[in-house]
Amino acid sequence: MILRPSPNHEPRRSAIVDMLVLHYTGMLDGPGALERLCDPATKVSAHYVIEEDGRVFALVDESRRAWHAGAGSWRGETDINSRSIGIELVNPGHEFGYRPFPYPQIDALIELTRGILVRHPIPPRNVVAHADIAPTRKEDPGELFPWQSLAEIHGIGLWPCGEPVEPPPVPVILAGLAHYGYDVADPTAALVAFQRHFRPWSLTGEADPETCGRLRALLRVMR
Ligand SMILES: [Zn+2]
Repeated sequence: MILRPSPNHEPRRSAIVDMLVLHYTGMLDGPGALERLCDPATKVSAHYVIEEDGRVFALVDESRRAWHAGAGSWRGETDINSRSIGIELVNPGHEFGYRPFPYPQIDALIELTRGILVRHPIPPRNVVAHADIAPTRKEDPGELFPWQSLAEIHGIGLWPCGEPVEPPPVPVILAGLAHYGYDVADPTAALVAFQRHFRPWSLTGEADPETCGRLRALLRVMR
C-alpha cells in the first residue's frame, strides 16, 4: 500500500458506510489519473487507486467522504459518496482503449476489498459499478470487469444463475430493477447498466429472456 494523499475529501454525512463503488480511471495512464485525483482543482478523488501491476495507492482515509460517485442513485440513496468506499482501477476505459483488467490488478483488488468488507457492513448487493449508480452518465468499470469470478470464487458481490424466463410486462421489469437498486428514469440506460454487470456479453438494452432470468435470480437472492 502506497500513501498518495489527496486533498479532495470532507467529513461523511452518514454514520454508516454500506456501499463499495468500483470505477475505472478512463485515462491514458495511471500516473495521470493519480495526478488528477490529487489535484485540488479537479474536486475528484477516490479512497484507492489500483495500478495494472497491482500496486495499491491510498488517497483518502476510509473515514472520510471521497469524491468519486458524482450524481447518482442506488436503492433511493443519492448521497453515494457519504455511504461508500470508492476504488479506481487504472484502465484507459472505453474512450482511450478499453482492455481486460490484468490478474495482478484484480488480485490486489480482491485483497483490498476483503479488508474493506471486514471494516464496513457492506452487503453483497451493494458492491456496485459506477455505471450501476449512474446509468445515463457512466460505463465504468464496464463489461470486461470480472464480476462473475469475484462473486463465485471470492464471495465479493452477487452473480445470478438464473434460467431465461418469458419477459414480464415492461413495468414489472422496471419495478424489479428499481427494487434491486437502479434508477430507472431512463429504462434503456438502466437495462444496459444491468447487463454490463450481470450479462456482460450482450449489451442490447432489451429485456430479453436471459436478462429477465438474471434479474429474477438476483431478486430471489435478496429475499
Ligand atoms: Zn467512475
